[in-house]
Amino acid sequence: MATTAKTIVVQKYGGSSVANLDRLRSVAERVAATARQGRRVVVVVSAMGKTTDELLALARSISPAPPRRELDMLLSCGERISMALLAMALGELGVDAISFTGSQSGILTNDRHSGARIIEVRPVRIQDELERDRVVIVAGFQGMSYKREITTLGRGGSDTTAVALAAALGAEACEIYSDVDGVYSADPKVVPDAHHLPELSYDEMQELAEHGAKVLNAQAVSWARRAGIVIHARQTAGSSRETRIVPGGEADPIRAEGLRARAVTATRTVVQLRTARRGLQALSLLGEEGVALRHSRLVGTGEAASLEATLVRDDLPDWPHTLARLRDLGTDLVCDEEHGTVTAVGAGLGSNARVLAQVGAHLVACGLHPVRMEASSLSLCTWLPHPEVEEATRALHSLLCHE
Ligand code: ASP
Ligand code: MG
Repeated sequence: MATTAKTIVVQKYGGSSVANLDRLRSVAERVAATARQGRRVVVVVSAMGKTTDELLALARSISPAPPRRELDMLLSCGERISMALLAMALGELGVDAISFTGSQSGILTNDRHSGARIIEVRPVRIQDELERDRVVIVAGFQGMSYKREITTLGRGGSDTTAVALAAALGAEACEIYSDVDGVYSADPKVVPDAHHLPELSYDEMQELAEHGAKVLNAQAVSWARRAGIVIHARQTAGSSRETRIVPGGEADPIRAEGLRARAVTATRTVVQLRTARRGLQALSLLGEEGVALRHSRLVGTGEAASLEATLVRDDLPDWPHTLARLRDLGTDLVCDEEHGTVTAVGAGLGSNARVLAQVGAHLVACGLHPVRMEASSLSLCTWLPHPEVEEATRALHSLLCHE
């Protein structure tokens, strides 16, 4: 007679949930409770507290533009500390657990150091250990390239580890635990009256993540979309609310017509590059350096091609080196790092001329100085001087985000 296979659940715990040994022990207790319910548990952990930032600072004090390969070797240690300690803590609770690095877990990536993309997951060792009724702890944020090099997945990359593993294991659920109970209509630290969002579509969440929201990583959302996995974003201790990230339905045509957004988010680490000539050469250099672009526009051909490109610096530890190479191209390169972006996300938002005009007018009426606006069907992105970013976030939230 066929036995019913136990369901698999993937739980990911963020850096603040394992920031010290007390918190790590309570995570171990939660994991133990889930395992005792008769479910197979795979736990993905982030580095403890601010470990990743500290390791980065250590590297920067040795070199202003540390080589990405060596940085990956260093940063991947943060998650390994958490995984080993959590496995030990579970052992103390009488739960049989084993920890694996990203490469041991079969997470195969491309060869782009700092910001690698997962290409394939072969979780054979995890499956074997689950069969033995062990809890498997996986170091998030890291994998191995086809050249057998250790890579990291970009800031917030443990989310991606969790979702990609959930997909590969056919998990019943992917739960992402952190210090917040899900996604809000804006960062509550900046916008005190931001409201909790019980549900968001993959499209909306991905757009938010790409424009600066840190609650969930953008690559994680695209994995969830591909595998049709629902992500549950929950709080480790405290609230029982959650945000579910789900396949989206059709955009609501009535809401799309109105002055309405789901959420507003901001990025301060954006860079805008402009060159009036040799745009194609600049683009191929950016490609060689493995720079992911948020937005780009190439106009014209040959020497006369102009380029406008936007990128986010977070996963470019050696950006000064790339910028120096761009300047060496001998073009009239302008590199603007003085502005940040504030983006409203909502279906139909950016394709409505009336909304665009009203948003522009509202920001100016609030005494702010937007320098550009970029619209797509799902979002409306405004650029402002850095000191105005928070005020603009509040202004756009009060204009566009109604409960
Ligand atoms: N530890 C890494 C970071 O701080 C990855 C993660 O937490 O998801 O970005
Ligand atoms: Mg995170």
